[in-house]
Amino acid sequence: MTGPPTMPHCDQAVLHAPGDCRYCDAHPDWQHLRQLWGIAFTGHPPRVDADRPWLSEVPCPSDARRPGGVNQRWPGNQPS
Ligand SMILES: [Zn+2]
Repeated sequence: MTGPPTMPHCDQAVLHAPGDCRYCDAHPDWQHLRQLWGIAFTGHPPRVDADRPWLSEVPCPSDARRPGGVNQRWPGNQPS
């Protein structure tokens, strides 16, 4: 690969869960990496595991910056 990767949405921090979006589903490696790093997918609340906090997720960075679904109002960031 040459140059920086091309992200599926205008907001580079938007990444939808497998099955939610055909654009993001074209990048299963990024979806897998997001799961490995414990980062919630866009539009999904972070998983909380009180007994095993190392398995809890941190919020999607796009959701954290623009909460309430504001980040997905723009058509270029919507799951499709
Ligand atoms: Zn998507």
